[in-house]
Amino acid sequence: EQLANQIAAGEVVERPSSVVKELVENAIDAGSTEVDIVIEEGGLTLIRVSDNGGGIDPEDIATAFQRHATSKISTSSDLFRIASLGFRGEALPSIAAVSRLTCISSNTDSGLARKLVIEAGKVTADEPANAPRGTNMSVRDLFYNTPARLKYMKSIQTELGHISDYINRLALAHPGIAFTLKHNSNVLLRTMGTGDRLQVIAAIYGTSAAKAMLPVDGSDADYELTGFLSKPDLTRANRNGITAVVNGRYIRSHAINQSLLQAYHTLLPINRFPLVVLELGMHPGLLDVNVHPSKMEVRFSKEMELRALIERTVKAALGAHRY
Ligand code: ADP
Ligand code: MG
Repeated sequence: EQLANQIAAGEVVERPSSVVKELVENAIDAGSTEVDIVIEEGGLTLIRVSDNGGGIDPEDIATAFQRHATSKISTSSDLFRIASLGFRGEALPSIAAVSRLTCISSNTDSGLARKLVIEAGKVTADEPANAPRGTNMSVRDLFYNTPARLKYMKSIQTELGHISDYINRLALAHPGIAFTLKHNSNVLLRTMGTGDRLQVIAAIYGTSAAKAMLPVDGSDADYELTGFLSKPDLTRANRNGITAVVNGRYIRSHAINQSLLQAYHTLLPINRFPLVVLELGMHPGLLDVNVHPSKMEVRFSKEMELRALIERTVKAALGAHRY
């Protein structure tokens, strides 16, 4: 069992940002409106995610850390969730197998909570605690018992960069959730959770960038497209400023990026890229989510139509700005 967890951990937990991803996605799944993330030393000494979501029933808390204890795919409407969640009930046991993890959670407003401590996969404490409704996961000393993996970690700045990039995109995908990201007590991101995506853009890219954004709005029989894109005079050195959100989840899509850049094509200097946040809504049946679960890659069954819609809508938004 412990070995199986360590092997699974190798797949789920590649680096600190993978831990952050799994913990924050759990917090979002729990219906949280506030998610606080505290990181120390690029996540290698501490990753703490606390939320105000529904919490875990004290009776279930130990089970949550057992492999395959949970399986989310019970209905077809859950299908999209596989795309981003990827590992069914393997995340927590995998993380616990390669760290010192403390989980404090409460699913009531009574103040009554449960605390579970797991070190290298072994439960070392399981006791009553006091906490408000919600969950607090602290992961310390990641990979301390797997030195081979630890050796492959890059610099603190690199690991932090991955974490920060991921949280930024989640915040863009979930403007209704208030996120805070702190590193060694510096606040790197704070969003208000008002639902206003432009506010999130301002928090990440600055107020002047947010002011230079144009709204996008378009649809066809299958797809609905909204979001914001930068005027052609506000450009960036790489395409990391492009974020796509599909049915409320941050995803990566080559098709979306390509058609977007195609629409900008003649308007941008060579090797300059726009700042874009696109949100797409569609029937889940039009999505192929099994392409690359861990990388959040998706494929669209009506890709030609989608590409045409994106090009048309983006060109219209840019054109309206010019004349
Ligand atoms: P999965 O998310 O695929 O179910 P995980 O290992 O990530 O697997 O989590 C196991 C279970 O623990 C979840 O299904 C959920 O019931 C519970 N859980 C984990 N994190 C939280 C959280 N922040 N709030 C409430 N429940 C949680
Ligand atoms: Mg999970």
